[in-house]
Amino acid sequence: MRILLIEDERPIALVVKRGLEEARFRVDVAHDGETGLQMARSDEYSVILLDLMLPQRDGWSVCQALRDERNAVPILMLTARDALDDRVRGLETGADDYLPKPFEFPELLARVRALLRRDKVHKGRVIRVGDLEVDTVAATVRRGGEEIPLTRRESTLLEALAINEGRVLSREVIQERVWMDEESYSNTVDVHVGALRRKIDAGRDEKLIHTVHGLGYTLRRPDGGGGR
Ligand code: CA
Repeated sequence: MRILLIEDERPIALVVKRGLEEARFRVDVAHDGETGLQMARSDEYSVILLDLMLPQRDGWSVCQALRDERNAVPILMLTARDALDDRVRGLETGADDYLPKPFEFPELLARVRALLRRDKVHKGRVIRVGDLEVDTVAATVRRGGEEIPLTRRESTLLEALAINEGRVLSREVIQERVWMDEESYSNTVDVHVGALRRKIDAGRDEKLIHTVHGLGYTLRRPDGGGGR
C-alpha cells in the first residue's frame, strides 16, 4: 500500500511518514501542491493525505483538479482546527474525509485505514463495519449476528452511510442522493438518523453512527482499527 503525503511543514511530514512506515505503508512526500498533483496523477497511491495551505497550489485546488480528471483516489484533508469553512469546502471539492490539525498520529492512522477498508470491502455484497453487517442484496442488517429489522428508508440510509464509511454525508446529500425526495426536509433526515441510531447503536458500547457538528453524519468505528 502506497500513500502520498502532500505537506509543506517538514517536521509534520517527517513524523507522519515515519509513523506510516512503521505501520508498513510505503510513503512518498511532496512539499508543494504542484509536485503533489503531478505525483498523484501517477495513480500509484491508495490514499492521499493532503494539507490545505501549500506553496504553488493549495490543497483545495489539488483536490479539485484530481476530481475534475475523474481521479477517485481516497483523499484525507488535513485542515486547521475549528475551521468549519475549510472542512465544508474540502468536502465540496471532493475530499473523502478531513482531520483537524494538530492531530494525534493514531487518529490519522485510523482514518487512513477506514478509507482503505471502505475502498476495498465496500465493493462487495456484504458491507462490514465492526460487528455490523449490511447485506446490500438481501437487504438485511445484522449487528453482532443478530438481525435488526429496519424500515425501507432506514435501510437505504444505513446502506448509504455504510458504503461511505468514514465519509461525512451532509443532510443535503442524504436528502438528494439517498432519498431522491424533494419532500423530505433536513429535520426529517435528523428524525430518520435518530430512529436508525436507536436500532443500531442504542445500548451498545461501540457507537457506529456519529454526528459531525455542522456538517452531517458519518458511520465509522471509533478506533478505525482492523485490517487495511
Ligand atoms: Ca501547510
